[in-house]
Amino acid sequence: MYDLIEELFPICRSITGDGVRQTLEIIKKHIPLEIHDVSTGTQVFDWTIPKEWNIQDAYVIDPIGKKIIDFKKSNLHVLNYSIPIKKKIKLDELKKHLFTLPDLPDLIPYRTSYYKEDWGFCLTHNEFLTLEDGEYEIFIDSSLTDGSLTYGEFLIKGEISDEILISCYICHPSMCNDSLSGVVLATFLAKQLVSMNTKYSIRVLFIPETIGAITWLSLNRKNTRSIKHGLVITCVGDSGNLTYKKSRKGDAEIDRVAEKVLKESKSPFTILDFFPTGSDERQFCSPGFNLPVGSLVRTIYDPSPEYHTSGDNLLFVNKESLGDTFEKYMEIIFILENNRKYINKKPMCEPQLGRYGLYNLVGGSKHVDSVHNQIILLWILNMSDGNNSLLDISEKSGYTFREIAYGAERLLKVDLIGEI
Ligand code: ZN
Repeated sequence: MYDLIEELFPICRSITGDGVRQTLEIIKKHIPLEIHDVSTGTQVFDWTIPKEWNIQDAYVIDPIGKKIIDFKKSNLHVLNYSIPIKKKIKLDELKKHLFTLPDLPDLIPYRTSYYKEDWGFCLTHNEFLTLEDGEYEIFIDSSLTDGSLTYGEFLIKGEISDEILISCYICHPSMCNDSLSGVVLATFLAKQLVSMNTKYSIRVLFIPETIGAITWLSLNRKNTRSIKHGLVITCVGDSGNLTYKKSRKGDAEIDRVAEKVLKESKSPFTILDFFPTGSDERQFCSPGFNLPVGSLVRTIYDPSPEYHTSGDNLLFVNKESLGDTFEKYMEIIFILENNRKYINKKPMCEPQLGRYGLYNLVGGSKHVDSVHNQIILLWILNMSDGNNSLLDISEKSGYTFREIAYGAERLLKVDLIGEI
């Protein structure tokens, strides 16, 4: 995953354009993505697909002829979606188009102007303070033309058509945690899940944030009925603790499962109720859809000082955190896949477990393992009245989901419970 971040990091991406296509082509080397293009001008709910933006180069030359801001050194230096421009202007005029972070004077901010035609440059505040009066040459070799919005989609067909939705966004330029960590995690989840014969079908989306989610929802309105659980992946590679942002429903199965996985991990974590800012869960959880889609991240976007700056670089993410978050996502999918309801086939009093090889026949044994396993079986038998799922039983009993699932497997083998 980290290697893939390194490969994708230098590409200048935006909500449209060749950077997105190049990114999707690289992901396609790992999973068989289907790539979709939606034309400029297409109406998607209240929005319109904008013109396609591409950029070759951009720089500022100072009064003594020195190139001081150079897109080729960092693609964050240009205001994303800047119109093409080439002219000489005075410092006062240039300053109206410069963006800095006075509180974080060593970092370059990431700024966009998708829906207002504008141009600009982003630079460190320290560099900004060195600018002297005089005439500056500015050059942005970009284009805004009729083209398309591009996104990637991969559907892993499961036993049933009900889906788990995994969504990430591919529109940020050189930023590692915000965006790219989610992209690589989604890629490797898909790579793993495709070989696993899952019960659920799994749909993985690689879309530009906001406009991409709106576009996909607009084009796939009917398909959304199949989405039973969903997660938006971003900010999963930093060294912070895990944070789960609940779906708008708040009590969806995905919300309970994510919380369960975090609790069982025994590491510190945070659970947040849904709020209408953030990433594409805003669209998936808009009231017209209200899909059960949450978001599992590490350090959540805004409070992090590196957020939307050049500080969100290859040093800000690490392999251990990516690996740890990957495991948590896999565990969530494991629980979703195995969370079923069973019915006790011998509900009149307890069945005599010894007859089924499920009880240590030497009475009074203190063997911790067998007592532990027998208690789990009693929980499952007692709760399996058709109303409680394995997740319910795990929550009520305090045993881990995997312990309960293993117990259910044993009871199923001897036909003491049946799936409903
Ligand atoms: Zn962002």
